[in-house]
Amino acid sequence: MDLDSIKNTFGISSFRGKQETIINHIINRGDALVLMPTGMGKSLCYQIPALILPGICIVISPLIALMKDQVSALQKKGVSAEFINSSLSKSERLERYNNLKSGKYKILYVSPERFQKKDFLDAIYTQSVSLLAIDEAHCISQWGHDFRPDYTKISWFREILGNPTTVALTATASQRVQEDIVTQLGVAIEKIKIFDDGLFRPNLKLSVVDCFDTEEKYHKIFSDLKINNGASIIYFSLIQELEKFSHWLDTKHKKHLVYHGKLSSEQRNKIQTKFLITDDAILLATNAFGMGIDKPNIRYIYHAQIPGSIESYYQEIGRAGRDGNPSDCKLFYCQDDLTVQMEFIDWQNPDRAYLQKLFGFLSLKQNELSGLDYGTLQSFMTFKNKGDHRIQTALNLLESKGLVSGDLERGTLQIESEWSDSLFSEQELLEKKKDSQKRLYQTLLYTKTTDCRRKFIHEYFDSTFNGCGNCDLCLEG
Ligand code: ADP
Ligand code: MG
Repeated sequence: MDLDSIKNTFGISSFRGKQETIINHIINRGDALVLMPTGMGKSLCYQIPALILPGICIVISPLIALMKDQVSALQKKGVSAEFINSSLSKSERLERYNNLKSGKYKILYVSPERFQKKDFLDAIYTQSVSLLAIDEAHCISQWGHDFRPDYTKISWFREILGNPTTVALTATASQRVQEDIVTQLGVAIEKIKIFDDGLFRPNLKLSVVDCFDTEEKYHKIFSDLKINNGASIIYFSLIQELEKFSHWLDTKHKKHLVYHGKLSSEQRNKIQTKFLITDDAILLATNAFGMGIDKPNIRYIYHAQIPGSIESYYQEIGRAGRDGNPSDCKLFYCQDDLTVQMEFIDWQNPDRAYLQKLFGFLSLKQNELSGLDYGTLQSFMTFKNKGDHRIQTALNLLESKGLVSGDLERGTLQIESEWSDSLFSEQELLEKKKDSQKRLYQTLLYTKTTDCRRKFIHEYFDSTFNGCGNCDLCLEG
């Protein structure tokens, strides 16, 4: 197939940004790290080469919830794509393994945990894999904003697949995260090319609204919501705060949806679908919402609480205005929220004693792990702030050192090995915490900058700045 007929398949008339250069590089068997704003079209950068190269393309993605959508979109275009993850029944999975063995797939989406399954490995060994794509590649780095321990095994997956041409894609990666991604991929540094397609779509207007206290903040957000026209997401750092605002909106009879990690996955799916199909929905969400979401007409992304890092702020506002129309990204800054984030950092960075205590408890309950839930774990680990983040972070850390495997919520958590103090260096844990504090401080500086918001973010990511004209400071100035 040639590029032109492939453009037809995907229904596009021209390429955006560096898409074509990237595609050609990959077709010529070059490895690539692709940095491209959310919504610009990273997927095509591997989907098109996948159709041109012989053999199969494996896409590793952390987004189980979205694999289905991505695959259906490809199938509608006549591409033989499929996904295999833990959401399938056993018989569905076996059927797909059989299809895989008989070479029915050109593009296969899997989550990293697949590589622990013998059935999958048996099936994949029968195939010749020509391309490995790692979506949301920032998950590889513990310095990134959404670290997934599973992602640290990517170089091993590459080896299993016979070291195929590899492309890693993300919307954001600081220099440090970029270096980390390249190292962890196990690709020769001189073989991989980094494509940086800038940071921002110009249609996003950035602004910061200073608020004296929570009450003022509520009123300011509300007066915006009354006149806004289009879909909005309002992000909160804490579920508690989100719920408080939700009740307050109820008293104002303002209809809205809520999405956070305390809802069941069914509820979350339902709300996500409703938000995606409603033009003017207002969604209150924690950062649990949005990775990989492809709704073109989100007009407003508000942050009701200061986010923990420029990385996550950037990622979240990147969901606005994918259709290219003007969209508003406002951060409502209130000093009290800074304290919240600082506490957040404390419980996102458990010390060794905490990890040891948690692991000790899990080992004790070794035979009952499948029935264990967050509530029980939390009440055992008692600490004053009732958020499940410390436990999740701690479980991730235990997993990264091979002490446990599986997933608490799915009842598949297992003890894998024995505790040793040497697994966790106090100094390393402390350094990680300091890093989080520094990143929060940078976010604070963003709210205080007097020059230009875009410029600030570009400097933060060491990215070339090509002018703004669309932030509160530039527009006022
Ligand atoms: P990303 O992964 O970078 O966030 P996606 O790959 O999901 O973005 O693409 C976002 C949307 O842009 C998709 O609907 C896709 O079909 C569309 N798209 C990508 N490239 C092009 C292009 N060159 N022309 C038109 N639409 C495109
Ligand atoms: Mg994507």
